[in-house]
Amino acid sequence: MWSDCAGKCTEKYAWGKLADELMQTLGIAIEFELYGACDSTRHCKDFVISNYDPSHFADDIFRRNFLEASFQCTKCVRMCSLPMTGIDIYCCCFPCGPWSKLGNRMGLDDPDADVCWQAIRTIKHMKPVLFYMENVMDICSTSRDTGGADVRLIKKFMQQELGDTYNTMTISNTSPIQHGYAAEKKRFVLVGGRSDQVDENQLRRNFTELIENPLPVTHNYWTFLGLDEIADEIADAVGELPSPAAACKIHGSGCKCGVDPMILCDQHPCRCAQCKHGGGAFCSWRVKAKKYLADHGLQEAAADGCVTYIQALELMGLLGPKSPRQRNMLNVFARLPAADPLRSTLMIMDISQAIDRARPRCDGTVPTMGVNASMWPMRAGRLLDVSEMAKMMGLDLSEVDLRSTTQSQMRQMLGMSIHVATAGFALIGLLAAAGCRPQPLIAVDSR
Ligand SMILES: [Zn+2]
Ligand SMILES: [Zn+2]
Ligand SMILES: [Zn+2]
Repeated sequence: MWSDCAGKCTEKYAWGKLADELMQTLGIAIEFELYGACDSTRHCKDFVISNYDPSHFADDIFRRNFLEASFQCTKCVRMCSLPMTGIDIYCCCFPCGPWSKLGNRMGLDDPDADVCWQAIRTIKHMKPVLFYMENVMDICSTSRDTGGADVRLIKKFMQQELGDTYNTMTISNTSPIQHGYAAEKKRFVLVGGRSDQVDENQLRRNFTELIENPLPVTHNYWTFLGLDEIADEIADAVGELPSPAAACKIHGSGCKCGVDPMILCDQHPCRCAQCKHGGGAFCSWRVKAKKYLADHGLQEAAADGCVTYIQALELMGLLGPKSPRQRNMLNVFARLPAADPLRSTLMIMDISQAIDRARPRCDGTVPTMGVNASMWPMRAGRLLDVSEMAKMMGLDLSEVDLRSTTQSQMRQMLGMSIHVATAGFALIGLLAAAGCRPQPLIAVDSR
């Protein structure tokens, strides 16, 4: 196996799970070794090397010489040979920044997008039996002045470079929800099999069947993670007038953070760029929050003197976030009809996002987790920790070596990587197509 833009090398982890299952249910033993991997981020390299010990590692996908079949290897600290045979599976989750809503959206004009061309050249050189490439769905919608979506240009380049040596297939909107996880992460996946080993129809049949027969989601995120809820007294107090004792405590705390974003709190000063420079104008988050209140008919809640979500938590000794923006957002979301009753709501949102982007979900699934995601399940009264976020992404942190990885590095790697179940989906569909090519009939010369 070779993994470019490896991240935490999800494919290798997914492969391990798949191999266990193949052994258990079918008695088939297949082992994959991570032969080479590439990632420009230091902590990704440390994680991949300490967990999967690839023979070679590169930190720059562009330092490859296809003519001389060599590449700059940072593990061996020399030019190592870039294999032209022997790689069975090639994976590349190339950077999504050029297309993602969170990136600059320059599409193929973004220098980061060049990784995609380099990955295709690498496939041409290595001739893996199977490959997959993954990105965000927006790659299909970004149009070019020259006509057509970026994905069409990518497929065109692939056709130019690989010709009919590969059968490929694109899969849109695949999400962990289809693979049994209560997590949203819609992705675009391009799969391919070398045509001497993989029959095109079989490839299509496999993936059609996998897509038409999704795995049932048996747990919502709450039961899956076994979360504990805040005490009923906390849940029931929100949105009600405070008792005299509570009112006294709230007053005594000095915190003014509420549902109204325009009230400044000395205890929770804003650290946004505008405030830092003493701009005087209201922070953009306050303006957005004010609009949000208006759009959702919550202006009255801003001044009704009822107990806020953060007040209810902190009265009982729990801790809300320190950021005034996040405190306000949670207070606002707690007053949405979807959060009522708080005792039983499944509302969860990413509080690292702006209020109009955080999109609380209440259907038991976790929204897409980006690089800086901070997931707050309302009824739990706290953020999900990194191991819980990893579990939602299909990764059990107790199964990996984390000695060279900090919590925030793991959080970042989770946000950037393909979901374990999506990688598993791509791998199983590909693997089941390998070796399926019908033998061509031998032409007999009848003359
Ligand atoms: Zn090497
Ligand atoms: Zn405050
Ligand atoms: Zn500010």
